[in-house]
Amino acid sequence: MTKQTGILYVVATPIGNLADISERAITTLKQVSCIAAEDTRHTGKLLAHLGVQTRTLALHDHNEKQRAASIIERCLAGEDLALVSDAGTPLISDPGYNLVRQCREAGVRVIPIPGPSAVITALCAAGLPTDKFLFIGFLAAKSSQRQSQLSALPVDVGTIVCYETARRIQACLDDVALVLGADRELVLAKELTKTFEAFCHGTAAEIQAWLNDDPQRCQGEMVLMITSTPAKAASDISEQVQQTLKILLAELPVKQAAALTAQIHNEKKNPLYKLALEWAGAS
Ligand code: SAM
Repeated sequence: MTKQTGILYVVATPIGNLADISERAITTLKQVSCIAAEDTRHTGKLLAHLGVQTRTLALHDHNEKQRAASIIERCLAGEDLALVSDAGTPLISDPGYNLVRQCREAGVRVIPIPGPSAVITALCAAGLPTDKFLFIGFLAAKSSQRQSQLSALPVDVGTIVCYETARRIQACLDDVALVLGADRELVLAKELTKTFEAFCHGTAAEIQAWLNDDPQRCQGEMVLMITSTPAKAASDISEQVQQTLKILLAELPVKQAAALTAQIHNEKKNPLYKLALEWAGAS
């Protein structure tokens, strides 16, 4: 008789409120032979709270590729293992992709145990369209890269959702206003499922003012949601305006060239800035 292959369970854990763990998650974490965790100390606290005594092993961005091989070997030998991240759903801006991919390639069964994820938690209560959305994970830490990412966002993709850190949120909002427009409708969701959970709806400047109102608001975990307003396409910008922009771009930085072109032709600065960044990205 051939031995049955084991299973890798991908188990979602709470993003703040521990009561959000599912019964199925607890049962699974108790029954597997080992839990691969991003940070074993962090997960250890959750497991102690749940009364789970299963052993853990560390699997994070830096050792995932090597660890995957031994996890797969164990699964192929018939063991069931679980994968968790520090919070929320593994693989969603968290480690696990390489492991799951390799498991599937090796013929190991992968079973998801669904539960919280900040992206869905934020989206379902923000009051923004949810029929279509684009999750882009974390934006770059550097402003210039962030601006390029924002300017490269496709139009008409529905609500755009990104993770952001408290340290970078103000600078990120500056860039959103600059690249996507100061009047773009946004929602910032903070500390989801926790005591200080809050949703702030407004433009970048309004959200910045709300954050500045209370130092407590500038801390904690956050999700930024951006409404998708079709941007003015390059084809909507007249040949004459594009020509001015090209000439100025040969001599000036992008921001200045866009601002001057806007002034000369009495146009809005943001579509020109976005177009200039697109040209810069294409060259
Ligand atoms: N795997 C997680 C998930 O499924 O949501 C995301 C992990 S990612 C490393 C951490 C980021 O998720 C935080 O910086 C924040 O942007 C977002 N996040 C996680 N928990 C959150 C919460 N309780 N409230 C708001 N945002 C949260």
